[in-house]
Amino acid sequence: MSILVIAEHDNKALNAATLNVVAAAQKIGGDITVLVAGSGAQAVADQAAKVAGVSKVLLADDAAYANQLAENVAKLVAELGKGYNHILAASTTTGKNILPRAAALLDVSMITDIIAVDSANTFKRPIYAGNAIATVESSESVIVATVRGTAFDAVAAEGGSAAVEAAASTGDAGISKFINEEIVKSERPELTAARIVVSGGRGVGSGENYHKILDPLADKLGAAQGASRAAVDAGFVPNDMQVGQTGKIVAPDLYIAVGISGAIQHLAGMKESKVIVAINKDEEAPINAVADYWLVGDLNTVIPELVSKI
Ligand SMILES: Cc1cc2nc3c(=O)[nH]c(=O)nc-3n(C[C@H](O)[C@H](O)[C@H](O)COP(=O)(O)OP(=O)(O)OC[C@H]3O[C@@H](n4cnc5c(N)ncnc54)[C@H](O)[C@@H]3O)c2cc1C
Repeated sequence: MSILVIAEHDNKALNAATLNVVAAAQKIGGDITVLVAGSGAQAVADQAAKVAGVSKVLLADDAAYANQLAENVAKLVAELGKGYNHILAASTTTGKNILPRAAALLDVSMITDIIAVDSANTFKRPIYAGNAIATVESSESVIVATVRGTAFDAVAAEGGSAAVEAAASTGDAGISKFINEEIVKSERPELTAARIVVSGGRGVGSGENYHKILDPLADKLGAAQGASRAAVDAGFVPNDMQVGQTGKIVAPDLYIAVGISGAIQHLAGMKESKVIVAINKDEEAPINAVADYWLVGDLNTVIPELVSKI
């Protein structure tokens, strides 16, 4: 079995999400090759070569891959991927942008968001916002799948000694152009990798109140910050903070949901968290069903009191 894992990176460092994908590849079993498509990305390839369980690293270094334009990277993945049994990427914004295009170019169907590997061609994936788990068997010549990172424990970032080989670029597909990017800079941990997440919902009332009430709590706990879709749609915080079915999937050790009712679409993104704490003034709020600890009260008084006691 030969597996091609698409590395996620920023041309400088390998994103930790790739380590979870390698873990899923190990469950399938076989030779694992990591593809680093980037520009000036030798350092990323060197890091990927050290990842435990990786047999080979392919580095496609070309200006066409500098900004991970999905059209360009998908063309490369489809070209290189022909020689593999599986092509895997993280179920992140980047992975979800690239892999469907690569699958279409290879003329195969793809499997999204796998959470378990039953065999080399049979996988489990959540459906209906995580309320049911489908077992999917693929008979495609190349199995193309995105991997839900929180479902697979990351392999060690060190310990491997794979060879790095150059891969020929397939160049610019000529159908998209990089204009600019706006990156939110934050001192806080990255939402999907954080050990503790503090999330705010519509109950927080405003963007100003979100920061006034929740920033001190997140600061004290060293937590990442998240939000419900209602809070994002109301403009309290940017939409890359959204947790849920159409946002990010998180599974931290501790998830604190503040002023969030617990709609199934929100639960789909956080119910695998190890300990869930809900703070809500409504004792009937559905988040109660998944919360380990449940505090009924007004967040505007409860949270400052909590912060003062930590
Ligand atoms: C296709 C689809 C996809 C979706 N994807 C997502 C998704 O990815 N993520 C997501 O979150 N939602 C998603 N939604 C929206 C989801 O259905 C809910 O509308 C949303 O999660 C509600 O957000 P909320 O809990 O912040 O708001 P509400 O449901 O309005 O709840 C606010 C809560 O705050 C409490 N509250 C109010 N004031 C206070 C106070 N002073 N102190 C304490 N508690 C207070 C209230 O009791 C209430 O429980 C999706 C919906 C659809 C249809």
